[in-house]
Amino acid sequence: MNDLAVLHAPLGPAIAAAIGGVLGRSRFDWGPEVPAFEAELAAWLGVPHVVGVNSGTAGLKLALRALGVGPGDEVITPPNSDIATTAAIHHVGATAVWADIEPDTFNLSPSAAEAAITPRTRALLPVHMYGHPADMPALMELARRHNLAVVEDACLALGASIAGRPVGQWGDIAVFSHAPNKHLGALGSAGSVASVDEALAERVRLLVGYGQLRARSYHREPAGLPQEMLVEGYNERLDELQAAVLRAKLPSLAAWNAARREHAAAYTAALAGSAAGAPVERPGSVHSYRNYVVRVAGRDRVQRRMAEAGVSTALLYVPPLHLQPTYAARGYSRGAFPIAEAAGDELLALPMSPALTTAQRDAVVAALLAALDG
Ligand SMILES: *Cc1c(COP(=O)(O)O)cnc(C)c1O
Repeated sequence: MNDLAVLHAPLGPAIAAAIGGVLGRSRFDWGPEVPAFEAELAAWLGVPHVVGVNSGTAGLKLALRALGVGPGDEVITPPNSDIATTAAIHHVGATAVWADIEPDTFNLSPSAAEAAITPRTRALLPVHMYGHPADMPALMELARRHNLAVVEDACLALGASIAGRPVGQWGDIAVFSHAPNKHLGALGSAGSVASVDEALAERVRLLVGYGQLRARSYHREPAGLPQEMLVEGYNERLDELQAAVLRAKLPSLAAWNAARREHAAAYTAALAGSAAGAPVERPGSVHSYRNYVVRVAGRDRVQRRMAEAGVSTALLYVPPLHLQPTYAARGYSRGAFPIAEAAGDELLALPMSPALTTAQRDAVVAALLAALDG
């Protein structure tokens, strides 16, 4: 699906040097790599503030905490995402309110979100599914009209944009995952939080490191300054080793994303006229193709046949969250979010990686077309 050994091979020396640099310095806490990575990713994204965190999941929770979302509040989010999105809402003591998705992009529907607003709604938490941006212009307009905060779950969409404006620049705050299989993956768990709002980013920075100002941490604190604890925080910082690795990989990100788009265009061209529905890319939107997801009737049979032909595929976030055992007590059954349910029945993720070869791509297409014919 995504061969990281092939992707990393050309970067082996750079990654080894990055790790060696951290070991040589042996300053694992509050060292220089994390702030350097934050500045470099901020420049890459065109967002003024980035805070490194130790996972996308932690980033979502910290973003909500920084916005002051908590018990009694409701946050509207789609039911077809990674469970981390909904779990983060519950981790701050708020309630996730699911709203159905758009049938073409599989992203939170602005009209369904609007219908889900109650006097307790505090925020919208759209997810840029598979790398296609959610309809941020419509969601931001909705949020402003109802005085709601907006957190972008951009964990699947680093490099995506709408009208030339990257995801991460639309909402009040945005969260990226640097899990190994995401666009910019660490060698383990990592994430980042981006915001145009300096005060909000500063609150995340406080919360992520115990609640103490980084500038006053024990390595940097000017002599005599108390190590003040300003809020009760967490220990969910990005660590120096992962930051160093991410810095070694960041210069390749634009080329990797371009390769993803090239593979996607080739898949779409090869599937034209077949019974497989290719992903859409809305005019003005740039899809960053973390996943290339096709829509096929009889999906499970198609997947089985492709597996028999030696081609791996994946079901992502299936079944949707409202049908997962952990949320059984919420009392939803099939029919509650029909568009998300239909997507869950019919979507199939094909192999996608910048390191995919033309021959692999052709083999995937041949196996899919044969499976559809069968
Ligand atoms: C990966 C992902 C997360 C969680 O990120 P982790 O770094 O794995 O904690 C959250 N939301 C979405 C949509 C994701 O794809």
